[in-house]
Amino acid sequence: MDKTRITGTTRLYALLGSPVAHSLSPAIHNASFAHLGVDAAYVVFDVDAGQTGAAVAALRTLGIAGFNLTMPCKKAVIEHLDRLSPAAELIGAVNTVNVEADGTLTGHNTDGAGMIRALAEAGAALEGCRLLVLGAGGAARAIIAQAGLDGAAQVLVAKRPGATFAQAADDVARLAAATDTPMGLVDFTDPEAMAEACARADIIINATPIGMGENNPESPLAPERIREGQFVADAVYHPRRTALLASAAEARAMPVEGVGMLLWQGLIAEEIWLADELAARSLAPDPAPILPLLA
Ligand code: NAP
Repeated sequence: MDKTRITGTTRLYALLGSPVAHSLSPAIHNASFAHLGVDAAYVVFDVDAGQTGAAVAALRTLGIAGFNLTMPCKKAVIEHLDRLSPAAELIGAVNTVNVEADGTLTGHNTDGAGMIRALAEAGAALEGCRLLVLGAGGAARAIIAQAGLDGAAQVLVAKRPGATFAQAADDVARLAAATDTPMGLVDFTDPEAMAEACARADIIINATPIGMGENNPESPLAPERIREGQFVADAVYHPRRTALLASAAEARAMPVEGVGMLLWQGLIAEEIWLADELAARSLAPDPAPILPLLA
């Protein structure tokens, strides 16, 4: 089969959100579809939150095979779907929609699973681990919920004080109860609490935007907070090697780049969309041909 030609049988996958023009998702999925020999194409549609329902209705009518959501559509899409996966339900946001054989739409969230798969690829098994997550926004929430579902021994979340601190504490308590996992919130600006939380963590994940942007010297943690043997992952993927990850390498910890989360949230979406086809052909999405595209 010609892996690049669009024909009358080519299935369509898409990303909805705004802005989407610079998204790396088309590069990831079109390269992966070509590598797998899957007759599919991936495009983006610039859609704001208020247009999400109309866009989903249009995609249903047109027989789309599956789609992704990014900001600001991840929450807005929920009321337009038929079902949610346990992770999407818990996180309260959807980044992947699968069109089932009967046409129903199931919402998934692969962001947290993407980070956990990136850690696993780097050698960090989550089960039984103590996790420290920096930040309590959308990416953090996906990681915290998935970590609870996947058997982390403990999850601590570091958030700066402010008007939303109490609400975040309630939220973390709810995720802890739902996943039966010990979780807690610590004050990101409290040096003693942070020193203790860092020392006890097997895995530290930055889910704040600190360090984003070329030549940005900022790190969410002082270098002395990182110890040898710890896994230190960043959700930030531009630059690939953030100041935090450079400190981790210096401390002989194990740095895990944010592109891993980005890549795996996409490949896990393909595992959902293409489950039957991949099983029939004994294939799995392969990160190797895609990682160089994200440099
Ligand atoms: P978000 O919802 O805005 O949450 C950001 C969190 O970081 C909030 O909890 C915020 O604190 C905290 N924060 C921001 N600046 C801070 C500072 N100077 N000191 C302490 N805490 C600070 O953003 P998000 O969507 O979760 O994204 C977070 C980062 O992850 C972004 O850089 C994004 O690009 C990246 N990301 C990567 C992937 C991937 O695939 N690799 C996927 C999603 C996101 P408050 O709660 O106090 O406001």
